[in-house]
Amino acid sequence: MKTQDYIKMEDQYGAHNYKPLNCVLCKGQGVWVEDVEGNRYMDFLASYSAVNQGHSHPRLVKAMKDQLDKLSLTSRAFRNDQLPFLAKELCELTGYEMMLPMNSGAEAVETALKAVRKWGYTIKGVEKDKAEIIACDGNFHGRTISIVTFSPEEQYKDGFGPLTPGFKMIPYGDIKALEAAITPNTVAFLVEPVQGEGGVIVPPAGYLKKSAELCKKHNVLLVADEIQSGLGRTGKMFASEHEGVKPDVITIGKALSGGLYPVSAVVASKEILGVFKPGDHGSTYGGNPLACAVAREALKVIVDEKLPERAAELGAYLMDRLKKIDSPHVDFYRGIGLWVGIVLKKDAGGARRFCEALMNKGMLCKETHWNVIRLAPPLVITKEEIDWALERIEQVLTEL
Ligand SMILES: *Cc1c(COP(=O)(O)O)cnc(C)c1O
Repeated sequence: MKTQDYIKMEDQYGAHNYKPLNCVLCKGQGVWVEDVEGNRYMDFLASYSAVNQGHSHPRLVKAMKDQLDKLSLTSRAFRNDQLPFLAKELCELTGYEMMLPMNSGAEAVETALKAVRKWGYTIKGVEKDKAEIIACDGNFHGRTISIVTFSPEEQYKDGFGPLTPGFKMIPYGDIKALEAAITPNTVAFLVEPVQGEGGVIVPPAGYLKKSAELCKKHNVLLVADEIQSGLGRTGKMFASEHEGVKPDVITIGKALSGGLYPVSAVVASKEILGVFKPGDHGSTYGGNPLACAVAREALKVIVDEKLPERAAELGAYLMDRLKKIDSPHVDFYRGIGLWVGIVLKKDAGGARRFCEALMNKGMLCKETHWNVIRLAPPLVITKEEIDWALERIEQVLTEL
């Protein structure tokens, strides 16, 4: 079968809810992937930061295979011998008292929304069904009906109403807007420390810190969605650390399994996650032993291989080199750690054609919005591999 045959089959039988670049991948190792025709590509998207540890990391593959030979799913009707360890290790790594395991990132966000609402009613004392949650313009938190309710993208909502009440939107990075939006019924402020899907947008310095202070002052919970910004990507284990902030709640996903399995989690204090009583919330696969075994190893690899430190060092190098490229198309570069948005000028014809050109040169990355090329390679990438990529990026940005 050739590339076109796979595409035809998928398009005939699969819903068309994505518009992928047309390479059909079948293998991956570290920063490299291979398509069905034997072409190799360097992966500069890392599955939206789910494979920070690189594709098929040998330690993760081994942990998963070992666990597969033992036990994969118990449901939470019974206990398993892996969840207690993941819970403890994740709490120790993050400095929180409790965690709640789910599968996808969107489910972790939903879990956080439920937790803060119930906290609002049972602990803050908000009147029944009056809880408000504040979110930001430009956000991405997932695709459930409640989450798309506060999505800035009209397309994410259009045709899916009626939407969920109880959410307010404010501009990202605007501390005054946050202060103005808080009412006695506000239970939480949900924010990405760095907006990933929004185009790698780093808020003004001090934003998260001031948000945390405001939240504390008004007894509002600060929920940091670190599903993409966490686990090393920005040069710290969690992006909130750049400002010395410890949010009340953190949602974690993506690299929590290094790409082997959908694993997500919410971490918070006992006061907050303690609002859940048996039956309040759950998931058949959440906390299953296969997920827990792979997540435990995924966390250890991030620590052992110093992935946050690598992201800080190599990210600074990448940004420095990018800024030296003299391109007629680039408006500016922004980013943090190994996470860069190349913002193109309005007349550059959009980011997609640059991503397609890079693909033809053996490098995979994906546009976000129409004019931003996002770079987010696996954090195990070497300096030499970054140089290899820079050569191609420079060619595309100057020759196209
Ligand atoms: C990817 C992402 C999500 C959703 O995760 P899924 O696993 O796709 O449901 C939520 N929040 C942020 C910040 C993300 O980047």
